[in-house]
Amino acid sequence: MTAYAVISDVHANLEALQAVLEKIERKKVDSILFLGDSVGYGPDPNECTKIVRDKADISIAGNHDRAAAGINDITNFNSYARIAIEWTANILTYENRDFLKGLPLVKELKDADIFLVHASPKEPHKWHYLHNEHDAHRNFHHFKEKICFVGHSHVPFITEHTGKGKSIFHYNHATIKEGSRYIINAGSIGQPRDGNPDAAYVILRDDTIEIKRVPYDIVLTQKKMKKAGLPSYLINRLSEGG
Ligand code: ZN
Repeated sequence: MTAYAVISDVHANLEALQAVLEKIERKKVDSILFLGDSVGYGPDPNECTKIVRDKADISIAGNHDRAAAGINDITNFNSYARIAIEWTANILTYENRDFLKGLPLVKELKDADIFLVHASPKEPHKWHYLHNEHDAHRNFHHFKEKICFVGHSHVPFITEHTGKGKSIFHYNHATIKEGSRYIINAGSIGQPRDGNPDAAYVILRDDTIEIKRVPYDIVLTQKKMKKAGLPSYLINRLSEGG
């Protein structure tokens, strides 16, 4: 069976992305899947987008990617996100903008029975948040595959939907069972919001799903953000993981 690393919500955080990719390299996976938001909030949008272009085998779009590429409206972004997106759009290279512009909203991996979407299987273009198993529960009939990976909320979790319609919440580890389906939130590499500042990513190998955490040089990222003039709220939240 193919082994996958699933990464999401890099948000222009180069130190976090490099730390995660170093770990992934050692895990010898067959394929890297990217769930969107390579830019927004952080200080290195071009470097991160270039790495995602090179390293990810399959990529889909996040709301910040589309906003930075000029194809999403940012009126529903909060003021910090808007400032960061305007800063990002100004420095993004044509090559990176074209890449982000061309990313699809969803991807079905038919052979692997996997569905990828940045926000939610229901109305992917509306960027709903799946915060918990209740939100996830309502989304199981909006995709056909056995496993769905999402990002967007920056809070990782694994939800299992049994053949009998029961929902089981798994914190950071689950075994894939016959008859069950799964929604897995891969969390965020570049701006975790679950109280743990370490970068998050997922490994899917054989019948095991694992959410992994990786520490990185947060202080260096924060220095770069300060130099770029990005909002201090965005700088400070990295150390809190919230
Ligand atoms: Zn995000």
